[in-house]
Amino acid sequence: MTDIKELGLERLKELLKKWGEPDFHARQIFSWIYKRGVKDFGGMSDLPASLREKLKENFYLFDLRLDRVFESLDGTKKLILALGDDNIIEAAVIPAPSRVTGCVSTQVGCKFACRFCASGIPQFKRNLSSAEILDEVSYLKENSLPEKLTHLVFMGMGEPLDNYDNVIKAIRIINSPQGFNIGARKITISTCGIIPGIKRLSDEGLQVELSVSLHSTDEEIRSSLMPINKKYPLKELISACRQYIEKTNRQITFEYVLIQGVNSDLKDTEKTAKMLKGLNCKVNLIPANTIKELNIEPPNKPAILFFKDSLVKRGLNVTLRKPRGQDINAACGQLRLGYVKK
Ligand code: SF4
Repeated sequence: MTDIKELGLERLKELLKKWGEPDFHARQIFSWIYKRGVKDFGGMSDLPASLREKLKENFYLFDLRLDRVFESLDGTKKLILALGDDNIIEAAVIPAPSRVTGCVSTQVGCKFACRFCASGIPQFKRNLSSAEILDEVSYLKENSLPEKLTHLVFMGMGEPLDNYDNVIKAIRIINSPQGFNIGARKITISTCGIIPGIKRLSDEGLQVELSVSLHSTDEEIRSSLMPINKKYPLKELISACRQYIEKTNRQITFEYVLIQGVNSDLKDTEKTAKMLKGLNCKVNLIPANTIKELNIEPPNKPAILFFKDSLVKRGLNVTLRKPRGQDINAACGQLRLGYVKK
């Protein structure tokens, strides 16, 4: 059987037509799933009983189970979600005064083994389907209440552009007025630098935000932090980003995790400013989370501020991300490690 969420609105309308049902039922079904969050066809009380029965015979609706919720002292929640095949993924709800952001996983495990990232430690098992990604968003929405889920970042476990088709299919429903209705500009796709994915994304006509993990402007250091740099080196990556900006007229955010003794010296600020000169971009600095197993720790606070100021003085637009959810291992790059080890 197929999860009904694999069908977009148009395909659902076509199916209902084939069944001899009026197509307005498709909008009702969408509304039950994405606006009202029902998890079985029986709850769709304004559909004829015969149609509910037919849907039940041909589709299933919800395959994710919320296993546990951890709540941080700062209000961040980490959701542990069990998939139908018992694989585990994590997602996070991050409240802030003017927004509530959901952090979404796109794969079980990850192939890319970035050195600073605990989410990439579990071996890659499989892609999430678009329906599973949509289920994840449903749980994020429920766990944002009484606030409204306003933003989504595809920065959880996995590389979104390595699961391109399913991620884009899910985003189209997340973004649609009949779906979750979250504005494209409030959705961020984060990539470790998959160049073919960046190129495809520039042709989608989606106004989503693109965030690229930079982490060093030295080929050798970046390769040691992110093995993907050997396949898609910095020079080619920056050129693909330049083309993306020209084609879409959108700004790119470059993420830069500051790691003590690795990429946080004055010379790194000089190289970064030179490489990004003239690009419509923002640099988001992220003090590394301490990961004892990987010998990773952030620079001290004055060193972080010095790094930031040096980039600003060289003309870059720079932000410093405030760590969230560290006490429950829900901060960026920490998803999954804490739970799996218990
Ligand atoms: S940063 Fe992203 S791409 Fe790299 S290992 Fe972690 S989850 Fe995978």
